[in-house]
Amino acid sequence: MILPKSNRLTPEQLAEVTAMVGEFGCKIQPIIGAVRTIYAIVGDEREELMINRIEGLAYIDRIDRIQSPFKLMDKRSDLASHRITLGGVTLGEELLVIAGTCTIDPKNPNYFYETAAAVKEAGAHALRGGVWKPRTNPYAFQGDVKSLDILMEASRRTGLPVDTEVMDDSHIKLALNAGVHSLQVGARNALNYSLLRAIGRAIAERDTCVLLKRSIHMGPLSEFISAAEYIAAFGNPNVILCPRGTTPTLDGYRNHPDESITPLLKEKTWAPVVIDPSHSVGKAIYVPACALAAVAYGADGLCIEAHVSPSHGIGDDPKQAITPDVLAEIIRQAKQLWTLRRNGAKAGSVDRRHAQSSPGGL
Ligand code: PEP
Ligand code: MN
Repeated sequence: MILPKSNRLTPEQLAEVTAMVGEFGCKIQPIIGAVRTIYAIVGDEREELMINRIEGLAYIDRIDRIQSPFKLMDKRSDLASHRITLGGVTLGEELLVIAGTCTIDPKNPNYFYETAAAVKEAGAHALRGGVWKPRTNPYAFQGDVKSLDILMEASRRTGLPVDTEVMDDSHIKLALNAGVHSLQVGARNALNYSLLRAIGRAIAERDTCVLLKRSIHMGPLSEFISAAEYIAAFGNPNVILCPRGTTPTLDGYRNHPDESITPLLKEKTWAPVVIDPSHSVGKAIYVPACALAAVAYGADGLCIEAHVSPSHGIGDDPKQAITPDVLAEIIRQAKQLWTLRRNGAKAGSVDRRHAQSSPGGL
């Protein structure tokens, strides 16, 4: 990772560095952070001669050689000061709440419009709504491209940014052209490296975010963070990690709730963590407890399925969507808990006294 002395290299400097690494079979990938641009060396960056030559350039500050499979997303990376903003919320500075239906019903768009208005009223900062759906049952409703118009109309009506899942190239193109603000990678696709690369490539020149769910089958945290690295490596590091429950399932819960990995993620990566309690526990009555537990564990935000009339919803909504009044109460309590954690951290929290690096980014 090359760190210039100024905030970014001039085109001439970039050309010089590119030519230099090219001699060693490497390429340069600029990574545009909020404040400064850093330059990843793509290829074998261990070549001493190449490193020495670059470090000898007057406009280069230093080369960071982080021995990590996720150099950009690593907490020690220069990108650690990068901040992601969605719906007016800078992650890490305020609790982010994304809410909306699991699936948009194209035959009954009013449910989505009403839900959008109601979750905004409840305090959500961004809207979620499934246009294309990954369904275990091939005969179940797979989503409908018509719902993309409904999603964007709800965004216009409420002024909220929107998040929706994409599963292939055509979805990525349609979603970005429509102006979707956050692309969701679902739990089933979090290990689909071609999709991750396609998303990284497509958003490289934009300020789009990615909500990367944790795969149902992911084990080591490095697998999760490396999936984020796949996207960031193309130049846009706006990747939000979203644990949403994994296998093995528990009797009663849809998945094994995994909000407890938040402090572990925070030790390894600077990426914000937004927990999805809905898919984790899979039943509306368990969602409030899981959401609050996530905040207690240090999450930066929540992504919650909500519907004005869950029993009239489709996809996961009849089972796991909460109503907007429940959402409002979760947000009220979650904000209190978030502030408590933050103030506790400032005063020298239990986290700080018991750990060298404080979890929860606090
Ligand atoms: C969803 O968000 O509706 C969804 C299908 O999520 P996951 O990929 O976490 O199952
Ligand atoms: Mn869902």
